[in-house]
Amino acid sequence: MSERYLLCTDLDRTLLPNGLQPESACARPLFRKLVSHPEVHLAYVSGRSLELVLQAIAKWDLPRPDFILGDVGSSIYEQAGQHREIANPAGSETRPDQWRRLEQWDREIASDWNGSSVIDIVTLLAPVDGLVLQEKHKQTRFKVSYYVAPQVDDKAMRQQMQTILANAGIRASLIWSIDEAEQLGLLDVLPASATKRHAIEFLMRQQHFNPGETVFAGDSGNDLPVLVSPVQSVLVANATVEVQNQAVQEAEASGQAAALYVARGNYLGMNGNYSAGILEGFVHYIPQAENWLQEASP
Ligand SMILES: [Mg+2]
Repeated sequence: MSERYLLCTDLDRTLLPNGLQPESACARPLFRKLVSHPEVHLAYVSGRSLELVLQAIAKWDLPRPDFILGDVGSSIYEQAGQHREIANPAGSETRPDQWRRLEQWDREIASDWNGSSVIDIVTLLAPVDGLVLQEKHKQTRFKVSYYVAPQVDDKAMRQQMQTILANAGIRASLIWSIDEAEQLGLLDVLPASATKRHAIEFLMRQQHFNPGETVFAGDSGNDLPVLVSPVQSVLVANATVEVQNQAVQEAEASGQAAALYVARGNYLGMNGNYSAGILEGFVHYIPQAENWLQEASP
């Protein structure tokens, strides 16, 4: 069987250069070159909904992925057409009707919430101080998203939330991240098995990619479950020092230090931020990919 690889990447501040640090000019063209290789299968793994992922693809002119793992892993989509090589009318890949939701994943995660809906969970968590529900379009079938003021004691808050949810028979993951630019805490309530990590592991099983053939790249809070897991992972160099320290410590504590690579820059003259870090890390795990980057462009 020929070689095949699964490259899973976060979007905001990982592939998308929408953070405070600069992007190396040749990084995204080289990323496109890497993923255009027929061996490389591409998945975008994002806190964004399908519609917002498609908006990002159009706005930043990103390569079309094979899979979209949206809503922090609580939804998985595949292209409705079988092969991305098939000629589609220009722009059709960014139409939501070109993507099919994997219902098998919905069924796997639904049992964690014990039949509860988003509205049930919002009602249960209403007594928790400091939670502000995000806009309606950011709530999805299996994700309740809140804003939290940055000065709130998020650990105590998450403990209180877990107690309330557990008493209602709900198994939930609480995913915390910080929007650096807005100085806002973001807290997502998901089915316990619907993190980015579990969604990637489901996709690996379903598409028959083994651990040595899979690489994930991320930058922040909702990427941590993957970064510290056995999935081969890359932390891009623009990640904050706090996230770098936390990822390294937790990966060591869970015996997964060999499956975490922290991009440091200086690869092909690039700075390790965003897609430069993705490339640096992918080549760390899959050294033969370096040849694909060096090939003359067609
Ligand atoms: Mg990110």
